[in-house]
Amino acid sequence: MATATVIKPDHAAKRKHLLFTDEHEDLRESMQAWVQNELWPHRNEWEETTWPREAMERAGELGYLGLCFPEEYGGQGGDYYYSLIRAECMSYSGSGGTNMGFAVQTDMVLPPIHLLGTEEQKQRYLAPGITGEKIGCLGITEPGAGSDVAGIRTQAIKDGDEYVINGSKTFITNGVRADFILMVAKTDPDAGHNGITLFLVDTDTPGFRVSRQLEKMGMHASDTAELAFEDMRVPVDAVLGEVGKGFYHISWELQGERMVAAAGSVAGAERMFEKTLEYAREREAFGRPIGKFQAIRHKFAEMATKIEAAKQFNYVVAWRYANGEYPVREITEVKLFTSRIGCEVADECVQILGGYGYMKEYEIERAYRDVRLNRIGAGTDEIMLDVIGRSYGL
Ligand SMILES: Cc1cc2nc3c(=O)[nH]c(=O)nc-3n(C[C@H](O)[C@H](O)[C@H](O)COP(=O)(O)OP(=O)(O)OC[C@H]3O[C@@H](n4cnc5c(N)ncnc54)[C@H](O)[C@@H]3O)c2cc1C
Repeated sequence: MATATVIKPDHAAKRKHLLFTDEHEDLRESMQAWVQNELWPHRNEWEETTWPREAMERAGELGYLGLCFPEEYGGQGGDYYYSLIRAECMSYSGSGGTNMGFAVQTDMVLPPIHLLGTEEQKQRYLAPGITGEKIGCLGITEPGAGSDVAGIRTQAIKDGDEYVINGSKTFITNGVRADFILMVAKTDPDAGHNGITLFLVDTDTPGFRVSRQLEKMGMHASDTAELAFEDMRVPVDAVLGEVGKGFYHISWELQGERMVAAAGSVAGAERMFEKTLEYAREREAFGRPIGKFQAIRHKFAEMATKIEAAKQFNYVVAWRYANGEYPVREITEVKLFTSRIGCEVADECVQILGGYGYMKEYEIERAYRDVRLNRIGAGTDEIMLDVIGRSYGL
């Protein structure tokens, strides 16, 4: 056989990343199919109703909520890349709100319970969280303190073998429907960063109240609550981790939150890019597909380059994390970078779709609103910049 002397690029060739094994790719294939078949068809309906509990239970039944948790608690015992793939697959749901509700469960609420929980707490919250039987929410933000976590006012005062909790939380994803809350409260108001403690509380505890369901710009498929705690008594064994170490525990949790946000931003940008590319191939103006105009073609080239850079950065950070490092500076950078790229891509995609980009019947309109949260949630751009800057001793 003659040796080929002309090697042509094959842009359509399936690309496998060096990070992923065949097993990872098998999961991607099955989970993506599930998201496309069972979540995507409901994307419009859930904007009105929010995603239903059965969707979470179904994810649990298929093993998608416990991919990285040990088998003894019902998990699959996989490495961190499974979590990354799950976040990427969820981008096919066409609903940022659904993705966020699920990510709160898998990447924000359950990991601290796995890391810090007692055996009893793991049996009570982690195992049913993995099956989807119990839904959790994460309560950090308060009406008077968001970025400044140490500025929270909710107090947990020890009274015998109980704590009495008073205060409030706001912007809490899954807060309306949750069965339990992982929350931060001050156990010693004079001890600064060392006076904050994590608690795991059932939402049917007397004194717990959903004071308001909040209305938002986007992420409509997700419920967002304001919560009130009035003389809410919890046993001392509701403490998660060490008393007084909650600030440090939650700072660790936030790294996982930022990584899943980064993966979601990149995958979301890819989906918007694909849909917009399809549109630009079909929509004609002045007798030709709009994608054939250099101005539009270059927009795609810019977006593709940024998405690819963001994706590779994200993968390298994930690789470091999966290999036991704790690369906080880079996690912060990738969260900042990917959420900005997500917003830029959304804006360009709306522009390319023209008037249709502004219409609700095209998914880009929703994605544009949903993705804006990424520069605020899990730490704002300004806070990310500050964390990065301070990591250099500035
Ligand atoms: C839809 C949605 C869902 C959410 N889900 C949850 C959840 O499930 N659980 C939860 O606990 N929280 C949740 N949040 C809260 C989110 O994490 C906070 O909104 C975010 O951390 C910012 O806090 P803040 O809104 O109080 O803004 P603030 O902290 O008041 O910040 C306001 C502005 O000031 C800037 N700023 C603040 N401090 C500094 C500084 N030191 N230097 C420079 N600029 C600064 C900020 O960057 C921002 O631009 C959610 C928010 C939204 C909108």
